[in-house]
Amino acid sequence: KVEGAISLDQIDTLAKRSMPLCMSNLHSHLRSAHHLKHGGRRQYGLFLKDIGLSMEDSLNFWRAEFTQMMTLDKFSKSYAYSIRHNYGKEGRRVESRAFSCVRIITANAPGPADHHGCPFRHFSPEKLAHTLTAKGVGGAGLKEILNLIAGHHYQIACTRYFELTHPDAETVQPIEHPNAFFTQSEAYWRA
Ligand code: SF4
Repeated sequence: KVEGAISLDQIDTLAKRSMPLCMSNLHSHLRSAHHLKHGGRRQYGLFLKDIGLSMEDSLNFWRAEFTQMMTLDKFSKSYAYSIRHNYGKEGRRVESRAFSCVRIITANAPGPADHHGCPFRHFSPEKLAHTLTAKGVGGAGLKEILNLIAGHHYQIACTRYFELTHPDAETVQPIEHPNAFFTQSEAYWRA
């Protein structure tokens, strides 16, 4: 994606419409608590970069939330660096890439105060069912997804979630990366 392909005024709509559950969960928590711990900042920050949010917009986005909970000085000293670092503007000056599903599912499991990870892997079945119901997935579709996660088929469950929330999508590519979920969803809604 080209840097600047998406802008800040679109982000709430995009979170609702086209982000996979792992990212819409981080977005909601950031909007309501005005903070995310390190794992969440990294998972969501890199995703936003790779869907095309510019570094400037990214800094504005995180600053606007975090400064509801801390001073601007604290944000600038403790958090702005890592955002610039994601874009390859600090440290070794290497741009980092957004995490794949396998990485999110298998590495760095979230602790109780964390919001990163994969909801299909890391939420309890009750919490996942609640989240899916809020997204309009119920009945047989919900049952099917809960059966898939009981069998540890997390990415297949996510692909099924995509199909259920994008009715009549022509061919759905199996979900292997949150950014591919997003791109596939945007292509659907813009068609
Ligand atoms: Fe995100 Fe991948 Fe989990 Fe789907 S399977 S919620 S895209 S980590």
